[in-house]
Amino acid sequence: MILQALDQFWTNLLAFSATFVTPDWGALIGLLPIMLLVFVVGPILTILVLAWVGYEFRKPRTKRVFAPARRAAPIDDLGNAVYPSGEPYSPSEGVIYEPGTIRAATGEGLVVACPKCGLVRSVLLDTCGNCGLSFTLKPITRSLRQAAPPPGGAAAA
Ligand SMILES: [Zn+2]
Repeated sequence: MILQALDQFWTNLLAFSATFVTPDWGALIGLLPIMLLVFVVGPILTILVLAWVGYEFRKPRTKRVFAPARRAAPIDDLGNAVYPSGEPYSPSEGVIYEPGTIRAATGEGLVVACPKCGLVRSVLLDTCGNCGLSFTLKPITRSLRQAAPPPGGAAAA
């Protein structure tokens, strides 16, 4: 009697667990598109997203800084102010002015060094009296300059 009950118990248990253990192939095949999505498309998308995020973090950033518009001219070892060519400046103040400025704060006319020959002339003159290079300094609201050579060296610029 006890053995029979135990046997019946096992039979019931096996039948019960079979509902979990035996795969329902029809249902699984129905799930295939979802499985494909989860186990194939999902990882691919994940890898793509991770790769993109990784690239976003590692990609070389072009650092740009705003060129100071009005600034004191740098002083060289001999104590002389160094003026970049092509930018208006006031020799008496030692101040480099923003392009397009024709007068210093004091009212004094600004001068500019020719980018080609270095001859200093009034900014009011468009053409260099020495080499004939003609250029006008256009007023700009902001000037950008590269903070450092681009990745790959200055030759890549
Ligand atoms: Zn010149």
